[in-house]
Amino acid sequence: MRTIDHVIVGGGGGTAARMGDVFDPNTGKVQASVALGTQADLDRAVAAAQAAQPAWAATNPQRRARVMFNFKALVEANMDELAHTLSSEHGKVIADSKGDIQRGLEVIEFCCGIPHVLKGEYTQGAGPGIDVYSMRQPLGIGAGITPFNFPAMIPLWMSGVAIACGNAFILKPSERDPSVPVRLAELFREAGLPEGILQVVHGDKEMVDAILDHPAISAVSFVGSSDIAHYVYNRGVAAGKRVQAMGGAKNHGIVMPDADLDQVVADLSGAAFGSAGERCMALPVVVPVGDKTADALREKLIPAIDALRVGVSTDAEAHYGPVVNAAHKQRVENWIQTGVDEGAELVVDGRGFTLQGHEQGFFIGPSLLDRVTTDMQSYKEEIFGPVLQIVRAKDFEEAVRLPSDHQYGNGVAIFTRNGHAAREFAARVNVGMVGINVPIPVPVAYHTFGGWKRSAFGDTNQHGMEGVKFWTKVKTITQRWPDGGVGDGANAFVIPTMG
Ligand code: NAD
Repeated sequence: MRTIDHVIVGGGGGTAARMGDVFDPNTGKVQASVALGTQADLDRAVAAAQAAQPAWAATNPQRRARVMFNFKALVEANMDELAHTLSSEHGKVIADSKGDIQRGLEVIEFCCGIPHVLKGEYTQGAGPGIDVYSMRQPLGIGAGITPFNFPAMIPLWMSGVAIACGNAFILKPSERDPSVPVRLAELFREAGLPEGILQVVHGDKEMVDAILDHPAISAVSFVGSSDIAHYVYNRGVAAGKRVQAMGGAKNHGIVMPDADLDQVVADLSGAAFGSAGERCMALPVVVPVGDKTADALREKLIPAIDALRVGVSTDAEAHYGPVVNAAHKQRVENWIQTGVDEGAELVVDGRGFTLQGHEQGFFIGPSLLDRVTTDMQSYKEEIFGPVLQIVRAKDFEEAVRLPSDHQYGNGVAIFTRNGHAAREFAARVNVGMVGINVPIPVPVAYHTFGGWKRSAFGDTNQHGMEGVKFWTKVKTITQRWPDGGVGDGANAFVIPTMG
């Protein structure tokens, strides 16, 4: 059995006392075992990070950027291998794994320009003979705790920006698909990153708690489910750290009566069922406005859903693969039953699906529930599987209110040909990321990613300038160079003003 060890300077540490199973969701079999680390493992990583970080921070930003350029080229050269590894542990199809990696690489491309964004500000003559300037300095050691569903993109959101800004970074990836994060750390070393600047520690709650309590770690970036995000935020902040913690989602797609329904159905199929619905920016709720729109949409959705091909990750024709593990498959199927018990109409039932030759794989067929209402638990909670729910809205006002009132506020989309309605919706909806005829509005790397309400705790988004702000602290310098003339030092007992 292959074992997956930590990436710590001086060696991972061999076989841990506790190990976790890493499955191949396509076969349902355990394919590797991952070390579940302890405080002692983290202490070793922190000591190595402390030793390496000052020299890295003192390396001029242009040289740090060159490591990013090298890394980008190496990831591109290893794209196929990375995508196959990713698919074999996560279950998403290969093309989708490449998208996962590419989205992370786009953050690295942003980091190639780090000298420019770290320049700071300068005011000459802010007072008589006085100049004021500011600089952004790294925090020291940062940590990232990441979910299973984007094992390349999310570690790169965090590590790319943190490292480019001059920090050392310790990554605690999901224990369900840890191999790609390990490989990315190896490629960073190959790209010229000094040892100790990016290390990987594996584990579960024990390791997360050790990170949150460690006095030498200044900042923690977390992405995962909301209850854990909230816990991580509270515990990290109580320990005096800077914390950003992104949580779960329940994104709505509003379909106005004037929308192009064929386009909507094509967009929705991918956004609801792609990656087996295991995306925080999936669209698992569709809100047609008016019963006429709802009936027409439903009529077109049913054959589109029936035509979806569920297959193994390596099946180039498959629209989506298995979910991540058996427990999650069970959880998703339970939510479908809850929906039925609550009174929703199960139009397409994806439960009980098996793929011939892969009977033990964690596959779920696509499901469609109609007449879902806001009081249902299956509407309020995140299902995170290939399940689309139709919530009928009577008018535009109700369509704005539904995502606005929901506990999650990650993403939302509106499909319409009416520019005024779209503009109004974007301005008023209480959600962090909005798509206008764009089903999955994940912002590009040089903008920033972050939801609202229970989809994110903390006030700084991921990547772009918000990421740079998160991973640096501002120092502001007020300087004067007195020439010894009369007046210098006068009024030293009065709060200085620039008057
Ligand atoms: P998860 O919350 O189970 O795990 C995330 C991380 O937390 C993992 O590294 C895990 O080891 C750790 N963890 C798990 N249980 C813990 C505990 N009790 N205490 C401390 N740490 C713990 O999430 P997941 O299932 O890996 O990922 C799916 C979730 O992530 C979904 O809710 C999805 O919406 C969300 N997500 C959000 C975003 C976003 O940007 N908002 C992006 C991707 C995924």
